[in-house]
Amino acid sequence: MVKTHNLGFPRIGKKRELKFALEAYWRGETSLIDLEQQAAELRKKNWNSQKKLDFSPVGDFSFYDHVLDTSLLVGNLPRRARSELSELDQYFQAARGQTSKAVEQTSVAAAEMTKWFDTNYHYLVPEFDADTTFELHAERYLSYVREATQQGVNAKPVILGPVSYLWLGKSKDDSNKLDLLPKLLPVYEALLNLLAKEGIEWVQIDEAILVTELDKDWQHALNQAYFALNKTPVKLLLTTYFGSLKENLQLACELPTAGLHIDAINARDEVIKVVDWLPPHKVLSIGIINGRNIWKTDLNATLDWLEPVYIRLKQRLWLAPSCSLLHVPVDLNSETDIDTEVKDWLAFAEQKLDELAIVATALNEGRDALAAELAENANSIAHRENSTRVHRSDIQQRLQSVTDAMANRQQPYAERAELQRSKVKLPLYPTTTIGSFPQTTDIRQTRQLFRKGEIDFTAYQAKMHQQIQLAIEEQEKVGLDVLVHGEAERNDMVEYFGEQLDGYIFSRFGWVQSYGSRCVKPPIIFGDIARPRAMTVDWINYAQSLTDKPVKGMLTGPVTMLNWSFVRDDQPRSDTCLQLALAIRDEVLDLEKSGVNIIQIDEAALREGLPLRRAEWQDYLDWAVRCFRVTANGVANETQIHTHMCYSEFNDIIESIAAMDADVITIETSRSDMELLDVFNAFDYPNEIGPGVYDIHTPNIPNAEYMKTLMKKAAQRIPAKRLWVNPDCGLKTRQWAEVKPALEAMVEAARELRQSQ
Ligand code: GLN
Ligand code: ZN
Repeated sequence: MVKTHNLGFPRIGKKRELKFALEAYWRGETSLIDLEQQAAELRKKNWNSQKKLDFSPVGDFSFYDHVLDTSLLVGNLPRRARSELSELDQYFQAARGQTSKAVEQTSVAAAEMTKWFDTNYHYLVPEFDADTTFELHAERYLSYVREATQQGVNAKPVILGPVSYLWLGKSKDDSNKLDLLPKLLPVYEALLNLLAKEGIEWVQIDEAILVTELDKDWQHALNQAYFALNKTPVKLLLTTYFGSLKENLQLACELPTAGLHIDAINARDEVIKVVDWLPPHKVLSIGIINGRNIWKTDLNATLDWLEPVYIRLKQRLWLAPSCSLLHVPVDLNSETDIDTEVKDWLAFAEQKLDELAIVATALNEGRDALAAELAENANSIAHRENSTRVHRSDIQQRLQSVTDAMANRQQPYAERAELQRSKVKLPLYPTTTIGSFPQTTDIRQTRQLFRKGEIDFTAYQAKMHQQIQLAIEEQEKVGLDVLVHGEAERNDMVEYFGEQLDGYIFSRFGWVQSYGSRCVKPPIIFGDIARPRAMTVDWINYAQSLTDKPVKGMLTGPVTMLNWSFVRDDQPRSDTCLQLALAIRDEVLDLEKSGVNIIQIDEAALREGLPLRRAEWQDYLDWAVRCFRVTANGVANETQIHTHMCYSEFNDIIESIAAMDADVITIETSRSDMELLDVFNAFDYPNEIGPGVYDIHTPNIPNAEYMKTLMKKAAQRIPAKRLWVNPDCGLKTRQWAEVKPALEAMVEAARELRQSQ
């Protein structure tokens, strides 16, 4: 018999119950006991959903983040967060920098947050130094195990492996993190011994770093760790996900553990190799259901390749989703309003577990036992495959007709720049902003009323026009050189465009945890992308009609649209991206035709799409950059293309950034003292740059002197002629009372810089 299990269940709840419980506690409206109770209810619901499996994960639930949970478990919360407060309050303090209002208010610096492998989930980075020591704090963890057992759950505790834990953290004193492994292992051993005492047989131990490029030291650390941990009485299921094992395949197979989990969604081609290599006493868990997307699995096709594997492995075969279901929404049944045709193609966490159970039964009892379910699945898969909403020949044809010429500007930058300067007269150090202005309650309410149908388009448009007018007036008063319309009509930079494109749908409750209590609801790209009509032209033209200053058109780029959506699994990401590129290219050309001379195409998420393995970076960067170029480069020489990126780590991708060939790139730099421009300097980056001088993440108002100093530092690296002056990012999260004086100071700084030339 094959066994089924799950690597992790979404912890946030069907209706984001955990989010609301946490935020109420942080606001001081509920007590710790209330919060604990609400969390226990959620865990119970989650385990109930998983009862159909042979093993359910325990320890996957988290009040904020499972990496921070591990820090708590091994006694490594940042020192500054350790206090007399309750354990959970110390934990929240480490996560958020402040305690909840329910307890005495104190604050310390929050731990740094970064992306969990190549997902949009963010974890709290463990902090280490040479003196770091570890100490087991297993009370909470063990209480979850007991709670599960009492509820009749066949518990398989989940822990982050010790080597991945070190790999994910940061050394604060440049000491070697791996030197800490001998100190960390006894804590893991002690935990595993305690779990054995609780009657636990299997423990899932996550070492996703096995799908990344590891040097000898890290490979050695894995050996060292598992030789030690294998001596404990529990059976370890070494768990990998998010990619292929490649050169680590043999290592993963041979590490001394009782079982191995691999991701057959990302590495189907490795399954047979692993079956060949795996020592005969080991269990192999195969991740057959995609834990990263929202599509139904083709169950019949899965059985086709899985049945021969089952014949070879027999009871040594386990089945699971490819990775934790943390990365998908909870329950498709909550979506009562979604397009029913597309809904039939989807599966969220609950449905994915049903799929898992069906595959297992079909293997155990033969496909006939589940003929009806399998036929139904085949039906949905066939509908999707043949749908003319998914596959549109007009769009396919257009895709085939993309030429290299479409991706190229007519003249090189230096020549275009002259033409652009004569078309739009700008001073040295031109000032601008990144696009959005404060999203006031009034704006949000108006959008909501319109959405609910409580006001009609004319009323909505009039309100938005007022907002645009306000933004233009304020920018003129401040004296900015290139204006924006302010993006009042946009709730989100991806959703706004997705809603107007064919091929996209939106869920109502499809929330996925991003960090802590914060969730995102990624739009779903289900079919070929087309733009039925212009999306932004009227708003920008209205803004331009109010002023003699140039107004920038404002778009989201194809790579960002792609990386912040759930995407199709029936064609390469690069194809979907090119479809997006063509749709947005049409918008660029429509803007240009309507008289807009400056167009910004934001690519906030370009870097996020980088694959886990460096060896695969170039391929991604090549098609991503090409898509951007197809979007942007159909314009005349005189039209100026801007792009914006919300980060500033360009060291390893500068060549590709330059290859985008945007006339101007604005980036986030204010907190780096302009050192981040060094790489542009070293590379002789040829085009114009707007290094952010105003940190928009805090309410602080920067002064002119400070911004002038920053720009002088910038001018030591980039010729003044090619510099712009702008904030780090959009201003939508700020208040007008902060924005006005900050921008006045920024414009003042630019004026003084011009005078001192
Ligand atoms: N134009 C967008 C804005 O100003 C850019 C946002 C972003 O880069 N994240 O809000
Ligand atoms: Zn930004």
